Amino acid sequence: TIMERVCVYGSGNWGTTAAKIIGENITKLPNFDHKVSIYSHFETFDGVSLSDVINKTHENPKYLPGRKLPENVYATSDEKEALDGATMLVIVVPEQFLESSLRSIYKNIDGRRLKIISLIKGVYIYKDKIMTPTQVIEYALKVTPSVLCGANIANEIAGHEICESTLGSFIKSEADLWYSLFHSDYFRIRCIRDTYGIELCGALKNVVSVAAGIADGLGVGSNSKAAILRVGFKEMRQFIYHRHPYTPPEVFYESCGMADLVASSLGGRNHKIAVELVKTGKSFAELESEMLGGQKLQGPMTAKELYIFNKHEGITEKFPLFTTVYQIGYEKKDPSEIFNVLVGLKLE
Ligand code: NAD
Ligand code: 13P
Repeated sequence: TIMERVCVYGSGNWGTTAAKIIGENITKLPNFDHKVSIYSHFETFDGVSLSDVINKTHENPKYLPGRKLPENVYATSDEKEALDGATMLVIVVPEQFLESSLRSIYKNIDGRRLKIISLIKGVYIYKDKIMTPTQVIEYALKVTPSVLCGANIANEIAGHEICESTLGSFIKSEADLWYSLFHSDYFRIRCIRDTYGIELCGALKNVVSVAAGIADGLGVGSNSKAAILRVGFKEMRQFIYHRHPYTPPEVFYESCGMADLVASSLGGRNHKIAVELVKTGKSFAELESEMLGGQKLQGPMTAKELYIFNKHEGITEKFPLFTTVYQIGYEKKDPSEIFNVLVGLKLE
């Protein structure tokens, strides 16, 4: 039997939580090395390397303060060491660091074929193409990754609050391994055979939760906010079917679809920062560095990338909510214009 060894690549808010979940589950699994490595991009915390702090205190005080990691989880900023002997790789860096991370992963795995899962929510635009994180990973490392994506606000999961998540994969044997690493009493995994639609849901809902934050920043009530979510959900479906007509419908009704849209629009970082954007008139970049302590926003970037792609395709007006979020965030459009996406409809 193969001894699997797991590396979690990324030590941010979700990366640290993912390592905690896996570290807790893995000690019950045969055929797995019980030690789990976390690759932590080098930085210091109070003058000491963050990975040393994590190893000494079993806590990541910068990205997941107040939550203990199991002792079988260790961090390192040495990529070679983190990836040494790894057979399963969890990639969980903010989208803007994926491409550079893949270049160094490629150098450090010496042609080994790893089983990979992406936990990233974002998209990539290359000329006239829009790609998801697993497509970028597949292109760089020549493997077919799985995805894990859902209504998963990391801090809540780290506190063992019950939730679900969607595991997308086309390879049954790998999906089973990832399931055994992630599924638990409080983190209930449901698998489906898809990756593209799941990932687009995860990326696009970040744009909708920015819109929901803009609505909250304007001080509206539940009806107005729900109307924004309705339009956002509709645009998500429309965009996903436009790109991939064979997307399985359950994508929209599992945790990665509807549930993630709701959770992120109530309690996510994109939502929180968008509220302040309206209240203070500051930019996303300023608010991210002032309020998130090193954590990264994905929604504003995704809104911009989508806008560039939709403009190239000549379809910006088909996605008024996505387009308006971009214009409010980057072109100083008045936030109240978000409500222009709510329009009457006569019977045809
Ligand atoms: P984060 O927002 O906490 O970002 C911090 C991470 O960025 C740290 O690991 C830091 O080391 C890393 N970083 C900073 N500069 C870097 C560089 N130059 N190169 C490489 N890494 C660098 O990260 P996160 O919350 O773990 O999010 C990662 C992904 O997971 C995102 O795509 C996010 O959308 C997704 N996600 C997050 C949550 C959540 O609740 N936090 C939930 C689900 C999905
Ligand atoms: P934020 O990045 O907006 O916090 O969303 C986290 C998330 O994806 C929850 O599922």
